[in-house]
Amino acid sequence: MNNKKIALIDGDNFFASCEILMNPSLKNKPVCVLSNNDGCIIARSKEAKQIGVRMGMPYFMAKKEFGNYNIVYISADFSLYHDISIRMMNLLSKYSDIVDIYSIDEAFIDLTNLDKYNRISYINLITHIRETILKEIGISVSIGLSSSKTLAKIASHKAKNSCGVYIINNENIHKELYKLDLEDIWGVGKNIARTLRSFGIFHAHEILNKDDEFFKYELGKKGLELKYELQGQAIIPLISKEEYPKSIQRTRAFPNFSSNKDYIMTELELHLHNVCKKLREKNQVTSIISVMLRTKDFKVFVQEEKLDKATNSEIVLKKYIRKLFNLLFNQNIIYRSSGILTYSLEKNEKNQLSFFQDNLNIKENKLSRTIDELENKFGNGIIALGQSGIKTVQNEHKRQMRFRPF
Ligand SMILES: [Mg+2]
Repeated sequence: MNNKKIALIDGDNFFASCEILMNPSLKNKPVCVLSNNDGCIIARSKEAKQIGVRMGMPYFMAKKEFGNYNIVYISADFSLYHDISIRMMNLLSKYSDIVDIYSIDEAFIDLTNLDKYNRISYINLITHIRETILKEIGISVSIGLSSSKTLAKIASHKAKNSCGVYIINNENIHKELYKLDLEDIWGVGKNIARTLRSFGIFHAHEILNKDDEFFKYELGKKGLELKYELQGQAIIPLISKEEYPKSIQRTRAFPNFSSNKDYIMTELELHLHNVCKKLREKNQVTSIISVMLRTKDFKVFVQEEKLDKATNSEIVLKKYIRKLFNLLFNQNIIYRSSGILTYSLEKNEKNQLSFFQDNLNIKENKLSRTIDELENKFGNGIIALGQSGIKTVQNEHKRQMRFRPF
């Protein structure tokens, strides 16, 4: 028997939760999100569900049927949901190398052996992930954990009716699948369910005992895979759609040509911050850093350095930047732009395995993460490392910020 531990993270009432996050006055109110052109209801808050508003219900019908309730109807803002989804998926990548994004608010992640590495039980681990998403993103999720994707999906449904987390262990599979409707199994649609019923299989647990030949013959390879998945074998692989860059660069022209050393250094620090933030988002580290200055007459000067140890800490990298900048800068030259480039990027394996432990307690790492968290809440560029700690970013940088009032 395989010992995979696959978690499915699923946003609760996701679109409605995103709207409530952006407008906290909607909290505890029945909220419905409407499809394009306000045709029908595509998401409901917990309170709207309790009233009885149905998924997919046309807007005009809901208005008529639930006219006595103060339901708040909101037109869908998919770019907002996409934005929050990216934040959620990026956060998940801190826990797993593989984030298999299934939909805008659902992803499978592989947590195998993270209990040992972090000396934590799986139930505490998924509870921690759930609480972290709630704290850092502001969205409530349900997490199911089991040894196959199909079982993880069933566990996540069960999580919605318990305390937000649920584990299906291999020893309890039969009990967990007992009397579960066929249509509640991931990948079982009306046609497969009809075929199974015609052979006297009405519930998920009955699939477990039927012999392999039956599935192969009646439903083909997919049918057999379904049985194995329900038995707890990880047949359907996790596929990470996440792309990991090989290099990251940030360059920008100055609003006015400049020979001001402090000003150019501040620009480089901002680039460095954005580069490091990207590295941390992707859980990557760099081992080559380079500084670029472009002169008024388009000559390019570059200095680079190979680091002793790969990092994504801007405090560490800032020392290199300063050194490289001092080698490059000539006060008699007028510059038009600057940039930071990092190469030779690799996964931050250490951080992957021990997100609870020592390395996160290192001061510099903690500070960087705090900045990331603040930026996730208040928008990019809200703070950056200055020459003497933290300072607010200057006005000229504001044009590249995207403010989200989190
Ligand atoms: Mg969901």
